[in-house]
Amino acid sequence: MVERIQGGGILSKSGNYKIDATSGLVGGAEQRPSPNCDERPAGIAPSLVVLHGISLPPGEFGGPHIEQLFANQLDWDSHPYFGEIRGLKVSSHLLIRRDGALLQFVPLHLRAWHAGLSRFRERAQCNDFSLGIELEGVDDAPYEDCQYATLIDVLRSLFGHYRGINPRHVVGHCDIAPGRKTDPGTAFDWLRLYDGLGATSGN
Ligand SMILES: [Zn+2]
Repeated sequence: MVERIQGGGILSKSGNYKIDATSGLVGGAEQRPSPNCDERPAGIAPSLVVLHGISLPPGEFGGPHIEQLFANQLDWDSHPYFGEIRGLKVSSHLLIRRDGALLQFVPLHLRAWHAGLSRFRERAQCNDFSLGIELEGVDDAPYEDCQYATLIDVLRSLFGHYRGINPRHVVGHCDIAPGRKTDPGTAFDWLRLYDGLGATSGN
């Protein structure tokens, strides 16, 4: 399991994204509601953040296909790869595009369908208790500076909003579905993330 956490960082600055507790919406995020979500099990609040990498078609950035996939509006016949995932119904709470833009597909209190068969420590079915954040990217090419900036900012907001979530509860899809998933990949710089989260200590 993941043991990449730096010790000692105190997050005293909350993020700039305001989270509405009633609607589960993140202020400042572009809203793209996805039907691929449902209620979490009764009494379960998010206590884990799962980071993903995604690009559609794989390796191509900037197109409309991720949003179309999450909206069940992807034309499966428009690219050979899309035929391989035909009928897939998935979503995430948030997506950070290559230019750092933040999009929201599912209200935070609802269950998005991003983790699949998964386990965090002894707890299975991570969708039940997690928030999914997709980064537009591939496993083996660097993510953009502005993507880290947005990610750090929105994570700070999440840490401020959910008492059960802190940097120890941010994992990769690869960590909760080892052998099945590799994203966000070796290109994702975890130390940079943790440095960024800790850099504002005391501010
Ligand atoms: Zn993933």
